[in-house]
Amino acid sequence: MIEKNILCNEKNTIREAINKINENGKGAIFVVDDNCTLLGTVTDGDIRRGLLKGIGLDEAVEKIMVSECIYAYVNDNTTKIWNMFNSKIKIIPIVNEHKQVVDYSEYSSHMKLAIAQPQLNGKELDYLLDGFLSTWISSTGKYVTEFEKKFSDYCGRKFGVATSNGTTALHLALVALGIGKGDEVIVPDITFAATINAVLYTGATPVIVDIEEDGWCIDPDEVERAVTSKTKAIIPVHIYGQPCDMGKIMDIAKKHNLYVVEDCAEAHGAMYDGKKVGSFGDIGCFSFFGNKVITTGEGGMCITNSPELEQKMRLYRDHGMSRERKYYHEVVGFNYRMTNLQAAIGVAQLENIDSTLKWRAELENMYRDSLEKVDGIQLQRNDLPKREKITWLVTAYVDNEKKRDVCMKAMMDADIDVRPFFVPLSEMEIYKKYVFSNTVSTHISKCGFNLPTSYLVGKKEVDRVVNALKSVMS
Ligand SMILES: *Cc1c(COP(=O)(O)O)cnc(C)c1O
Repeated sequence: MIEKNILCNEKNTIREAINKINENGKGAIFVVDDNCTLLGTVTDGDIRRGLLKGIGLDEAVEKIMVSECIYAYVNDNTTKIWNMFNSKIKIIPIVNEHKQVVDYSEYSSHMKLAIAQPQLNGKELDYLLDGFLSTWISSTGKYVTEFEKKFSDYCGRKFGVATSNGTTALHLALVALGIGKGDEVIVPDITFAATINAVLYTGATPVIVDIEEDGWCIDPDEVERAVTSKTKAIIPVHIYGQPCDMGKIMDIAKKHNLYVVEDCAEAHGAMYDGKKVGSFGDIGCFSFFGNKVITTGEGGMCITNSPELEQKMRLYRDHGMSRERKYYHEVVGFNYRMTNLQAAIGVAQLENIDSTLKWRAELENMYRDSLEKVDGIQLQRNDLPKREKITWLVTAYVDNEKKRDVCMKAMMDADIDVRPFFVPLSEMEIYKKYVFSNTVSTHISKCGFNLPTSYLVGKKEVDRVVNALKSVMS
């Protein structure tokens, strides 16, 4: 039986067609009549060109449909169908003798499998249009407030301050805590560079410490060893969806009177001891970049329970301008705001976060089950006490660098997108001088790689990945 979301009735609107294309992820749909007879095809490109020509979203899809489209018959042999594909045609409807669509052939079984893909098949377009039509396209408007409220609620914190991206969220948090020159801030060796850059922007000195062998997050024992009289804060990074050992980290922070700023960019919804990440430290920072669990294109947020910190972050985010007196600036601030259009997408994304996390977890389990039979490859740990990880990018590892490179090459040869682990900060010239410890991180970073993790990856694609890995591991 052909999937419903690849077909579109001639009476459907362009808006409905867009939703179906977003859902099926194939960049096209087949237009049929009530009898399922093929009338034409519509690609995302046809829609974009149509809209630019002034055709409205609520007009019938027929208006932009290409009726002289290529199709094949059920009895055509594969070579014949294969020859119909070209750089523009990646999917071909297959019809019976009555020209009814019964199946389709896709170039994608040989096409590149992407590592990540934003999923935009909820209310994103509706809210975005609503924001657009309201003309509140800058950084005031109802969606910013709504997104701040709903996202901070979701994480179990009182306040949310939306920002232009995850990096500005981290910087804003540190500035609001008064961190600057002469202070030391402890960061893990394995993270995205934005974590340490945010520390450097403030003029403070980052102190890079090693990670745990099992969780790959900042090692609490190393944090404790690295504390000096100058230490002001710790930035635990919940890496690849894995929550840090927040119990130990908060104990250390309390003991030494340190601030905690959680970098939650890769772990929306992950939990430690039944509480969401971002709700342990003084401030939790999130990113909504296109490859994160939920996205606003570019975007970020700081969450906190402290009204003072919330006010400070708003002040610094909005040019340092006084709320009481317009154009009177109390501090040297920044423009780190999120636009209403970004927030509109965020609100729609948040509505679906539970189902997003569900398919992500199921995909990781599918990889886990299939890879169980492949000796020498493991997936990131998901059995650590008190930690409920989420799936950001499915992460695999082997026991040495040579094997890792062989695995990555096998995947690339099979046209599967693959990403190596983050390069440890301690390995880079510009950050080397800040290293305190890096034994585990140096080893682990050479052994790990990320597998395609998107809603377009199903059983068939998992098999493709696992077969590529099997071919070199046995
Ligand atoms: C993505 C990411 C960031 C930065 O977020 P942007 O929105 O891209 O600025 C910060 N920290 C970590 C761990 C990340 O993965």
